Amino acid sequence: MILKRVLVLGALVAVGALLVAAGAAQQTPSAASIQVDKIRDNLYVLSGGGGNTAAFITAKGVTLVDTKFPGWGKPVLEKLKEITDKPVTTIINTHTHFDHVGGNTEFPATVDVVAHENTAKLMQEMRPITGGPEQPNVFKEKNGLGLPKRTFKDRMTLGDGDERIELYYFGRAHTGGDAWVVFPALRVLHTGDVFATKIVPLIDANNGGSGVEYPRTIANAVAALTNIDTVITGHNPRTLTMADLKSYADFIREFVQTVQAAKKAGGTIDDVVNSWKVPERFRKEGYLTPEEIQQLSRQPLAAQTARLRANVEVVWNETK
Ligand SMILES: [Zn+2]
Repeated sequence: MILKRVLVLGALVAVGALLVAAGAAQQTPSAASIQVDKIRDNLYVLSGGGGNTAAFITAKGVTLVDTKFPGWGKPVLEKLKEITDKPVTTIINTHTHFDHVGGNTEFPATVDVVAHENTAKLMQEMRPITGGPEQPNVFKEKNGLGLPKRTFKDRMTLGDGDERIELYYFGRAHTGGDAWVVFPALRVLHTGDVFATKIVPLIDANNGGSGVEYPRTIANAVAALTNIDTVITGHNPRTLTMADLKSYADFIREFVQTVQAAKKAGGTIDDVVNSWKVPERFRKEGYLTPEEIQQLSRQPLAAQTARLRANVEVVWNETK
């Protein structure tokens, strides 16, 4: 029973992470569709409607990490009323994808929006995602409302004391502007989609992502962030650990090496797409195969294969 529940949860997660990839129909936005999990006394995860939103309740107000698909900003605000009567004062965006920044425009213009400098630039354009789909530009429609006004390059501190938040950039991975968000007093990390969940990552080269840099970037983060007990991922409804994150770097490193070895041996992209399997070690850690995602979701297997192919192409093109 527990195993089955974990598997179903995992599948839902995978579907969530791949919604963007497949451009599948989105749920109708509503507060009732948002699930709230208390991670610490003053930190909650709101899941559903896109990427995981973290809500950090401080004396001055609420800091949100990511705002889900367009249309979900208002439901997030409504759901927050069940937790706190404090206003949202700050939004941190982890990266430029519309299932993480789409709700930004539904918050008051006075809210302080913070992102990595590359993400701030990319959010003005909302370029198509590598392997699809196109991204709606809600910011253009609203004359720039919700775009970041404060940016950082390598590191930034928000707040102080136990309410301190540290933002880091460790290099290219899922996109070219992935922010890592640390709540030091709580020993919690929000990775955004650098670690969406335990499936093949989405490597969005069109928005600055890199397959070759991806495992190095995670290794940089693991080396620097030594006081973390709890990891909030981009899409997994349950929190994970730094050991899971470390393992994810190994998973991607092996994937990259497989693609590079095939290219050097004179193989083709098709060879890799047709032969790649989730390695046994990672199967034991709960990584899902494309077939499992397909069986437990209503997405066609073609969507999973297309994502795999897009990733193989990214690494292939990065390899001399
Ligand atoms: Zn993403």
